Amino acid sequence: MKIFETHAHLDLKDFNKDRARVIEQSKKVGVEYLINIGYNEETSKNSIELASVHDFIFASVGFHPHDATEYNSDIIRKLAHKEKVVAIGEIGLDYYRNLSPKKIQQEVFADQIEIAKQLDLPLIIHDRDAHEDCYNILKEHKAKQVVFHCFSGDVVFAEKVLAEGWKLSITGTVTYKNNESLRDVVRMLPDHSFFIETDSPYLAPLPNRGKRNAPYYLPFVIEEIARVRMQAPNRIAEMTFQNAERFFFTDKIKIK
Ligand SMILES: [Zn+2]
Repeated sequence: MKIFETHAHLDLKDFNKDRARVIEQSKKVGVEYLINIGYNEETSKNSIELASVHDFIFASVGFHPHDATEYNSDIIRKLAHKEKVVAIGEIGLDYYRNLSPKKIQQEVFADQIEIAKQLDLPLIIHDRDAHEDCYNILKEHKAKQVVFHCFSGDVVFAEKVLAEGWKLSITGTVTYKNNESLRDVVRMLPDHSFFIETDSPYLAPLPNRGKRNAPYYLPFVIEEIARVRMQAPNRIAEMTFQNAERFFFTDKIKIK
């Protein structure tokens, strides 16, 4: 099975003791590409660093809404030009934890959308309890290449996102008992419209919920999506691989 892991945070200290082993193990289950995600200056730089030492790892750079008060536009512009940076993210709005004031979250989000547009880079969106505002700000700024990471909306919101030609990405939360609403979304998604991810070290899928997550748990996510959609696991791995490849690897990115 050939897998594209579109969202992991392997630079975090949760992996300090066994990062090399986690990376090896992930390759063993079939992970052929992995995007390591930045959410502030430090993690964006660490993502680039990690990508520079592993052929199959690529990086995204951005300021998460939690870190919006630390935002520095120049830093993101500079980092976005580094080798193997394939996206701006994760950026967006988080009205659940509200660690930064809403207004600042919105300004920082909007500025990074503009940077991504200028550089022709796709956007990885973090949206927690902020569906309408995320959607409106993206529309207002005419964002084209967009993925809602760890999609948490309902079928109605999914349809709105798809109508814009945007993508969604599904994590291990699809395996959680109480998450029938996400399974309803997964059931209706067109084949070309979604990716898979772990958001490691967070959100480990069943049967490992509560443990540290890692990309080698992606087969559990694939199995559940396959069950819900009544498609073969191999087919899910293959189509999400192609979808992600098309989305993140625009012609200007040279893949080794
Ligand atoms: Zn994340």
